[in-house]
Amino acid sequence: MNKYKIAILAGDGIGPEIMKEGVKVLKVIEARNDIEFELVEAPFGAGAWFSHGSSFPEETKLLVDVADAVVKGPIGLNHEDSKQIPIDEQPERGALLPLRKRLNTYANFRPVYLPKALAHFSPLKAEIIGDGIDMIMVRELVGGLYFGEKETGVDENGKRFVREVLEYDEEQISNILHRGFKLAQGRKKILHNIHKSNVLKSSVLWNEVLEEIAPQYPDVTVIHNLVDAAATALCLNPTQFDVMVMENMFGDILSDQGGGILGSLGLMPSACLGHDGKAYYEPSHGSAPDIAGKQVANPYSMIGSMAMMLEYSFGMIDEARNVWDAMQSVFADGFSTSDLSKPGSGVTMLSTEEFGDKVVAHLQANG
Ligand code: NAD
Repeated sequence: MNKYKIAILAGDGIGPEIMKEGVKVLKVIEARNDIEFELVEAPFGAGAWFSHGSSFPEETKLLVDVADAVVKGPIGLNHEDSKQIPIDEQPERGALLPLRKRLNTYANFRPVYLPKALAHFSPLKAEIIGDGIDMIMVRELVGGLYFGEKETGVDENGKRFVREVLEYDEEQISNILHRGFKLAQGRKKILHNIHKSNVLKSSVLWNEVLEEIAPQYPDVTVIHNLVDAAATALCLNPTQFDVMVMENMFGDILSDQGGGILGSLGLMPSACLGHDGKAYYEPSHGSAPDIAGKQVANPYSMIGSMAMMLEYSFGMIDEARNVWDAMQSVFADGFSTSDLSKPGSGVTMLSTEEFGDKVVAHLQANG
């Protein structure tokens, strides 16, 4: 029997609600396979700062170091409440970026998926969605603008200034591009390279490295897009994209737009992958303080992140597929969560927990 230790970092806001549904799904998978999941909960994020005086406490650091995989709910508070926490301990700076650095999860895979049958969830017209949206955004996650040197101060003229550096070496660029090429090879063999080489020197080096490694992937066609044009194209012609690869901040912004064209960030799971099997899994969205505790959050993003863990960390490709199918079946049965549909639109609205229960029922029926 394979035994896996999984660190469960439920996080803030809607984190605990959607994590509960993800864990339900894991229990079903565990019960019918020759595996054991040891689920170990640990504090992480704003709640951890209030309870433990650190948004990434030592006990959580030690756990993520030894876990076979980490699943993480979103962290953070609303803008006003964030001010209660010192700036360097605020969840992104104090916990999220250090977690990414610690595990060196340099490759973030963010699927943006909406089958034709669910086109009504999207704000885009049905003719734009065509046969469905199905792409993966590959975001570099431990370098670029978010990880460069930062300085704030007052200059010789008494003016406040800030300096933030976008830094990469060629190895970091090559690592993420190889991930993009390999993913493209297993899909439609088209790689959209997203950059800003008309302005940023970092993009010039990025593209040089791409030209150097592209001959190793002769079956993959590379299409170059400036990031601003890509933002427009995502709205006007999203079905042209299959695998997109990009710098850290570009990926942060474009992937939220990805959630927008699907109809909700609640449909956005992700996998954060490093070297030698290091990985953690999280929804792409934030802690949604506006809906926390109301049982209206869509747990698809969390359950989908679990499915990605089953595939990438444990090689359980069939069970991962079963989880995706179970979630799609809930929608196909005419149900929705309230982020995706308006009252009166003819669908039956489900709470967070009801959605999780229906996914479990489909999984149990089709296992
Ligand atoms: P957000 O992603 O939390 O929410 C944006 C909008 O999407 C809100 O209207 C919210 O209700 C909705 N939404 C998000 N997830 C949803 C879900 N599963 N189901 C239904 N609706 C959902 O963005 P924000 O409000 O700008 O940020 C809130 C906090 O989250 C901030 O503290 C921010 O720093 C943090 N944050 C954390 C992460 C992370 O943990 N990786 C990522 C992004 C933002």
